[in-house]
Amino acid sequence: MPVELYNDGKHVCVAFYDLVDEERDHAVQCNQFLIANSKHGALIDPGGNMTYNDLLMAMQKYVPSRGLDFILASHADPDILASLNKWMVASHCKVLISKLWTRFVPHFTSGKDYSDRIAGIPDTGMIIPVGDCQLKAVPAHFLHSEGNFQFYDPISKILFSGDLGASLVDHDVAALPVTDFDRHVDSMIGFHRRYMISNKVCRLWARMVRGLDIEMIVPQHGARFEGKAMCNQFINWIDGLQCGVDLVDESLYTVP
Ligand code: FE
Repeated sequence: MPVELYNDGKHVCVAFYDLVDEERDHAVQCNQFLIANSKHGALIDPGGNMTYNDLLMAMQKYVPSRGLDFILASHADPDILASLNKWMVASHCKVLISKLWTRFVPHFTSGKDYSDRIAGIPDTGMIIPVGDCQLKAVPAHFLHSEGNFQFYDPISKILFSGDLGASLVDHDVAALPVTDFDRHVDSMIGFHRRYMISNKVCRLWARMVRGLDIEMIVPQHGARFEGKAMCNQFINWIDGLQCGVDLVDESLYTVP
């Protein structure tokens, strides 16, 4: 069941939590998102081939596929963008992704020249118009990919945070907001320690997003953080997180 994270009658943010079945598909649970405004739409991190059919069907309630202006990709991993070829055929959408990945993305397509529909987001981010909404691509480099963006919606005040904030839980748990932050840390900590690159970038990110008016932080795996208090708890946790190269030592660099 799609979850409407925000709906004021004109602007809608929808999350899809259950298009991947962890048991059936032997794949990590992941979330897909639609932003629809005035018959225009953008999909954030639409996922791989196993989510394509259901997502295409489910999004029609909010925006027809000919109204899909953009696919916004936080980075270039398979659970983010492996379905790209199908979206290119089914719609006229443009793909926006870090300029570091635009030359890699064509490997997800069938070989047809889509270069006029794949655009690079500069390192400093950009404004993306979807209908009357001015989405912001917010830098989140090295969290976890070298060229990595999050997407901030100033109408709903939702930050779609990509892999930052990801938790490894079942899809029925993922569809519900986090209620007990300290307990929720158990489902985030292992992933963040390995997949996030260093505390230096965690601190840079925390400082940057404290300047945004955020009501919800919605990661691409697992459950979301709702309300300013819960979002602040998460931002403070990231601020102090030791991860990636902070923790690596020779035990990981030993010839087998
Ligand atoms: Fe990833």
